Amino acid sequence: MSLRSAFISQRSLILTLVVLLGSGFLATSLLSYYASRASIRDNIVNTELPLTSDTVYSEIQKDLVRPILISSMMARDTFMRDWVVAGEHDPEQMTRYLNEVMNHYGAYTAFFVSNTSLKYYQAKGVLKQIDPEEPRDVWYYRVRDMTTPYEINVDPDMANKDNLTFFINYKVFDYNDNFIGATGVGLTVDAVIKLIDRYQQRYQRSVYFVDAFGRIVLTGADGGPQGATIGQQLSSVPSLNELQKKLPKPQSGSYEYEAQGQGHFLNVRFIPELNWYLYVDKQEAGAMSDIRRSLYLNLLICLLVTLVVVFLLQRVLNRYQRKIDIHATLDSLTRLPNRRGFDLLALKAMQEARRESKPLAALLLDLDHFKQLNDSHGHLAGDEVLAGFADDLKSCLRQSDIICRWGGEEFIILLKNTDSVTAHTVAEKIRKLAEQHPYRFDGTSLHITVSLGLTQWQANDTLHSLISRADRALYRAKQAGRNQICSEAAHSHAE
Ligand code: GH3
Ligand code: MG
Ligand code: MG
Repeated sequence: MSLRSAFISQRSLILTLVVLLGSGFLATSLLSYYASRASIRDNIVNTELPLTSDTVYSEIQKDLVRPILISSMMARDTFMRDWVVAGEHDPEQMTRYLNEVMNHYGAYTAFFVSNTSLKYYQAKGVLKQIDPEEPRDVWYYRVRDMTTPYEINVDPDMANKDNLTFFINYKVFDYNDNFIGATGVGLTVDAVIKLIDRYQQRYQRSVYFVDAFGRIVLTGADGGPQGATIGQQLSSVPSLNELQKKLPKPQSGSYEYEAQGQGHFLNVRFIPELNWYLYVDKQEAGAMSDIRRSLYLNLLICLLVTLVVVFLLQRVLNRYQRKIDIHATLDSLTRLPNRRGFDLLALKAMQEARRESKPLAALLLDLDHFKQLNDSHGHLAGDEVLAGFADDLKSCLRQSDIICRWGGEEFIILLKNTDSVTAHTVAEKIRKLAEQHPYRFDGTSLHITVSLGLTQWQANDTLHSLISRADRALYRAKQAGRNQICSEAAHSHAE
């Protein structure tokens, strides 16, 4: 495999791994994100908001039960009926009675309106005269004409600085079932507002009431949704127009809508006692931000893991590749560079010689009659001798010299910074060592000789021309009887 294709396949392996890991991690992260999102959403819509709505509703009912009971007792009270039937003579008596009810039962206000005199009595005295033309007194005529025994109404209380008040309006009859007036108590909505506030703060929900016409009637201390105020029509809040489209008229149910780029969950419930709708609203962002954060964290961890895996894999591959590269340029028998390794080293050496104007000598070696040695002692013996000879060669050379197994039993050596005289000395040293060194194989002692061709590098030499010259020198050494050194100079083909 070429280096280039090795590089490409390494890159595609890493890319495949990144894609696999990345898509796997992304898929699991997103799956778990959407699963928890769905379950949180489900929990909000089906449990949280209805539960808040239930609690607020039951709190209101609880707050209303006692006042309804008190008002009912007032409407049946014989003192009250006797006093009215007798002609409302001493207002002091009625005032005292109302004061007693108010203080004893902790009501916010207690009242009686006589149908005969149209006087409005309350704990501090006669407040006013009821007037059919006065819009604030419309309630009285509504109560007079209604068929049920009582109603619950929310109105500003004139007797108490116009504070918003729940009024329980009971019809009062004489002993012959003639309508003689309306009585009841009022209680402040403070408790409900406090409850709304508590829910809003603790659970980041927005809680408010809307009447049947879509008007906001009661909110927590901080006001209604998106900054709306009491009395405002929900449809007049610009950012709620998407909700308005889905819910043009208040109606019980669960809704989802967007306001100012934020998703909202909404639960609407009808409160029959008040003829109001209770709205419990929760922003999606608050509920989802935790799991969104954990999604980001998840993705970050996945990214880190992918990066670490890629980094480790790259390192392993690089190390492996380097090993392969080294193996590809080394001869396995002699551990000397092969031709491929030699080519690179030789070109570098020639460049150096050219740049530094230093001499460079080339030596081509071929073992003599090696075929015979193989034939008579076997191929393994030949291998052993080749490896031993390669070691001998190394021992004769400097670290900087370049040595290569050129093929078969031929070797080539480049001696850096070496003139022809020194090169000859080295060649002679090699020749002698081979001649004198017996190689042992299987108990027998094997002798070899070597022929050498020597030449000097010239500035205009290519690697090919240099080696060709050395080869010619070697040929002459063989021709001349082997076990000797022949030199060939660049300018002449014969020496
Ligand atoms: P000459 O003196 O002319 O060089 O004779 P020679 O026999 O050495 O020449 P030739 O090139 O004809 O033969 C080379 C022999 O070297 C042939 C081959 O069997 C042997 N040979 C080449 N490579 C190896 C090797 O890796 N191991 C062994 N054992 N023998 C090898
Ligand atoms: Mg040969
Ligand atoms: Mg040979």
